[in-house]
Amino acid sequence: MTVPIAKLCFWGVRGSTPTVDPATWRYGGNTPCLELIAPDGMQFILDCGTGLRMLGSRWTAPSGGPTPETHIFVTHYHWDHIQGIPFFSPLYGEKNEFHFYSFRSKFLGRDSLKQVFETQMALPYFPVDISAMSAKRKFKEVDGGETFTIGQNKITARWLNHPQGCLGFRIETPAGIVVYATDNEPGEAKLDESLRELASGADIFINDAQFTPEQLATARKGWGHSSWLEGVKVSRHAGAKTLVLFHHDPDSTDRMVDSILRQAREEFDSVFAASEGMVITLGAPGDRVQAHMPGTRTTLRREAQFHAKVSGVTEGGKEFEEETIVRDLSLQGALISLKHLPRLQSELQVTMEAPGADGMQSMRLRGYVVRIDAAAEKGHSAVGVVFTD
Ligand SMILES: [Zn+2]
Ligand SMILES: [Zn+2]
Repeated sequence: MTVPIAKLCFWGVRGSTPTVDPATWRYGGNTPCLELIAPDGMQFILDCGTGLRMLGSRWTAPSGGPTPETHIFVTHYHWDHIQGIPFFSPLYGEKNEFHFYSFRSKFLGRDSLKQVFETQMALPYFPVDISAMSAKRKFKEVDGGETFTIGQNKITARWLNHPQGCLGFRIETPAGIVVYATDNEPGEAKLDESLRELASGADIFINDAQFTPEQLATARKGWGHSSWLEGVKVSRHAGAKTLVLFHHDPDSTDRMVDSILRQAREEFDSVFAASEGMVITLGAPGDRVQAHMPGTRTTLRREAQFHAKVSGVTEGGKEFEEETIVRDLSLQGALISLKHLPRLQSELQVTMEAPGADGMQSMRLRGYVVRIDAAAEKGHSAVGVVFTD
């Protein structure tokens, strides 16, 4: 019997506007876009922020067999959730077909999302008009409270508390339940209750964590966003298993997100801060969470291998130190083969001999674990690390 497995990929995790400053590279600067591949092969895309462009450039055309269906849910029409649409190359392939889901906006009326497409791709804002998009596009209007099925997957949409409206989505696959609730602010009793219902028993609960609890209580009140603390409260109340902090503020540096993550982990067992390139596998034995480093951030890759001493903390919280081999070394990160299983997003110290300006030099680097492939080699796991200094 095969175990049903679903794969959830994070292509964009930043809120409000994309960021390119180096202080935000580790978590990533692209705006919201997630991809969920359900066990029945159904592909879901959640939001069309600038992360969608990356997804499009990695698009793999199916080789024979039935064409997999792609269903795209757009939570609302703020720039950061639609800006990737004109740059999503599969939309220009006439053999492709996409099913879009979103709500009827009172500011746009019928066919809201279709109108958004046409307005976005109008002169003088974009060089080509909508007729260049030759893929088949089907649009479906969804209302908060609606439930429907796509393949073997049950979808539920609920209204969230956000200026001009926003939908949260719950996708129940045979491998587990993913709930996506970005752009929501707590404080509206009815909508708060609705969010808890949406998140009920979720395996992965992705929640807006743009602001700190202090900002949310003062200067940022009414801006339509949430905090890690609210995410923890909802997770506890709803019995969600893993909380993913999402929609990072454009002004939050990697170190600020690290600090937000640390605080959240003190309050809740299983928390991750969404980072670009992170992949979560649902339904796999052991339910391991992994992430890969996008190729664009790994320039200066070297083929060579280096001997290194690595120290860190295991999943079980024990400190370890071991001698090993470092591969795929770049200025940004490396792949390290380890007997110990470090905790995801924990810090590793790497000391190694590597070529420098004056021959071989001893280097000491600090990095964060962004990917763990537990079964990479016999007795070893391949651990992807992004260096912070
Ligand atoms: Zn947003
Ligand atoms: Zn918004």
